[in-house]
Amino acid sequence: MNYNLNFNNIAQSYLFAEVANRVAAYSKAHPDKKVLKLGIGDVTLPLAPAVISALHSAVDDMAKSETFKGYGPYEGYDFLREGIQNYYKESGVSLELSEIFVSDGAKSDLGNILDIFSKDNVVLVPDPVYPVYVDTNVMAGRKVIYANATEQNGFLPMPDYKVKADVIYICSPNNPTGAAYSKAQLKEWVDYANKVGAVILFDAAYECFITDNSLARSIFQIEGAKTCAIEFCSFSKIAGFTGTRCGYTVIPHALEKNGMNANKLWLRRQSTKFNGVPYVVQKGAAAVFTKEGMAQIKANLACYRENAKLIADCMDELGIWYTGGKNSPYIWLKCPNGLKSWEFFDKLLNEAQVVGTPGAGFGENGEGYFRLTAFGSREVTAEAVERIKKLLQR
Ligand code: PLP
Repeated sequence: MNYNLNFNNIAQSYLFAEVANRVAAYSKAHPDKKVLKLGIGDVTLPLAPAVISALHSAVDDMAKSETFKGYGPYEGYDFLREGIQNYYKESGVSLELSEIFVSDGAKSDLGNILDIFSKDNVVLVPDPVYPVYVDTNVMAGRKVIYANATEQNGFLPMPDYKVKADVIYICSPNNPTGAAYSKAQLKEWVDYANKVGAVILFDAAYECFITDNSLARSIFQIEGAKTCAIEFCSFSKIAGFTGTRCGYTVIPHALEKNGMNANKLWLRRQSTKFNGVPYVVQKGAAAVFTKEGMAQIKANLACYRENAKLIADCMDELGIWYTGGKNSPYIWLKCPNGLKSWEFFDKLLNEAQVVGTPGAGFGENGEGYFRLTAFGSREVTAEAVERIKKLLQR
């Protein structure tokens, strides 16, 4: 027996462990100080009442033989896929039900989708980036190349025809940078992918934060995307499902090459390795798309948006450069006074007792930048912002 040697090539996950270690050491040495956390990408508001009520009623269904459910469809129940289909319709995107696959979250699908692609593909990933894209490919032994996201391009790299890529990851609005592509910019990526025969893996986990109509909520709003893109989305951020687990992936029937069809390959993959998302969870997720559920969810999102605005306004007041904050729950700021990411982390922790995430942990281009999130409570966010202002105004 031999283990997969590729695991020797992935970086140990130092980032959040190191953040936790430094915070724990600080709290131990200063037990009287209240530490405020704006570092995590997890939500804090509870599930909407409409979702809770649907979950309860689905649990009751499981208690009666007439409504009990065993194994469900691999691709998800139609009642949820129809909800997703209608949600896309609101953005002007028309999908067939069979193009929608329900899953236990975007992270699983982002990793699992690699099963349908050849090992020889060259993978293009932006730097900085959500680490899952890189690690899943390195585990499988694929070559990863990077597209530089920098202050100069607003952390939104554009296609370079001199670079040959087969699989391209795009996350918009982006984690960690909060930057979001316009429809016109995405059209350039779609044209590139169609021209070179690449596939775009579009991570739309934060689409619900988009309010500006010139930005894309879905890559399928872009003409030509159905022949070159797969989209991943999630109930985690729109509806607080980080602990409940539900997401979906859209694979158009038109996505095919050399006689092989991506939608069919994925269905084959899922029916082999996946037995579906719990009925109860899918019922809860479907309630997101009811009138009542959507109104409640929008109120929660408004609360996070207001937090993001508090942080962004603070950066404006301090004259600190940043991306995000407007169509995203993330604020990606340039560390003041030329500080490196971890130096700024220590300064904020030691002098203001505020925790964020050092940008260097997301890739080389993240050095000198820092991520704050809007997912904390209003009280914590408002107090943290006051402390940051006080510290940096000096
Ligand atoms: N994609 C991005 C960019 C994320 O930031 C996250 C989670 O933070 C995910 C996907 C994972 O989403 P899920 O909870 O649906 O697995």
